[in-house]
Amino acid sequence: MNYLPIFINITQKPCLVVGGGDIAYRKINLLLKANAQVSCVAQACCNGVTQLAKNNTITVIEKAFEPSDIKSQVLIVSATNDRALNAQVSDLAKNANIPVNVVDSPDLCTFIMPSIVDRSPIVIAISSAGKAPVLARLIRAKLESTIPNAYGKLAELAGSFRAQVKAKFNNIEDRRYFWEKAFSGVVAEKVFSGKTDEAELDLQTQLDKSTDSEMGEVYLVGGGPGDPDLLTFKALRLMQQADVILYDRLVSDEVMELVRRDAELIYVGKERDNHSVPQDGINQLLVDLAKQGRRVCRLKGGDPFIFGRGGEEIETLAENGVPFQVVPGITAASGCSTYSGIPLTHRDYSQSCRFVTGHLKDGTMNLPWDELAVEQQTIVFYMALKSSKHLSEQLQAHGMRGDMPVALVEKGTTPEHKVHTTTLAKLPDLVANETIHAPTLIIVGEVVKLREKLNWFDAES
Ligand code: SAH
Repeated sequence: MNYLPIFINITQKPCLVVGGGDIAYRKINLLLKANAQVSCVAQACCNGVTQLAKNNTITVIEKAFEPSDIKSQVLIVSATNDRALNAQVSDLAKNANIPVNVVDSPDLCTFIMPSIVDRSPIVIAISSAGKAPVLARLIRAKLESTIPNAYGKLAELAGSFRAQVKAKFNNIEDRRYFWEKAFSGVVAEKVFSGKTDEAELDLQTQLDKSTDSEMGEVYLVGGGPGDPDLLTFKALRLMQQADVILYDRLVSDEVMELVRRDAELIYVGKERDNHSVPQDGINQLLVDLAKQGRRVCRLKGGDPFIFGRGGEEIETLAENGVPFQVVPGITAASGCSTYSGIPLTHRDYSQSCRFVTGHLKDGTMNLPWDELAVEQQTIVFYMALKSSKHLSEQLQAHGMRGDMPVALVEKGTTPEHKVHTTTLAKLPDLVANETIHAPTLIIVGEVVKLREKLNWFDAES
């Protein structure tokens, strides 16, 4: 380690910034965030610095730097573009044992400023010891995207309970166990979903009867159409903290790779017309697992509320008093059309879009064909491969042109993404003559033609 990471308290302490340009302005703002009393010595100042002085947020002394300026300072930043001046400030500070940072000159610094992820009171500092600041920034961007904003609130909440928890548990192990549970369980999730008041009550209850067995939680998570990059941050976070994952056939292998390594995996796969675990069984399993205190992730393809029976699953949870959260996912219509270069709406060709199930109940598709067989509309059929002949016939019987463009998307957004384009009249032939792999989505509408110009995604195979 080239530097010792420490966090320094500069609240209401005099700190000096030499220089008044944009970079100095940024450093001043950082010092202000840590509540420093900032003075700035500079011959010229940028607007930002001048404004801070006008508001009396900092003191600006417009003059050339003099050695006596460092007197009584606890920390100094030199941010001028005059190397000799920076070196002079650095020497003086070092002689006076005052920590000094010279922007972009690690050799002149006694401390360096890290990249920061600010979830105050949680603050993460990242440094590459001046060797690869861009890499440090990339790492920071990664952390920014994986650490929810609400971690700050969680830490605040924990802070307000600290004394109580200490008083309740004499033993450090017990305290640690209590906090681990709080930070990875229902309390944390409530804070993340904005229910801070409820979280506070829960934490209090947990503390009051910390031996009782607790209720777990269910996360109904949309896993998107296949490409793992299409997961939301929230989906990923919950997938990585759940103790048990219930998944089905539509969740891609690549997405499954991202669940917590040691989670228990339960396949409740649904083949068409051949449900390996009947829906009631899944609903009950979710309730039972949560009642054992487990964090259960019900991972579904696409969006759980779009032809996903998500509603049915959480109804049972609600009836049984099991807490749950729902995370939307990119639905197949959106993923498949986008990855096929087909905009679902377009000002010239389609002003509305309908998502329709093609699943045959009792062999008939009970659909409002008159409403569907219209121009200037896009129809996306889910689960319609087997009924494609029927839908082609019905749409034409209700007045849709036989040459209406149609796209059939196989395994959309995955490495095996494949698109067949045809017309409404020829759709049944295509399905009869080609080998087509499920899952497939059928898109009907003029917008399909745009693919010729707008296709951008090349699958690997
Ligand atoms: N909840 C899911 C849909 C479940 S219904 C969602 O929002 O996407 C299952 C149907 O979705 C499949 O029969 C198929 O029509 C469609 N589907 C799901 N993933 C798909 C994919 N990667 N490519 C093509 N179609 C897909």
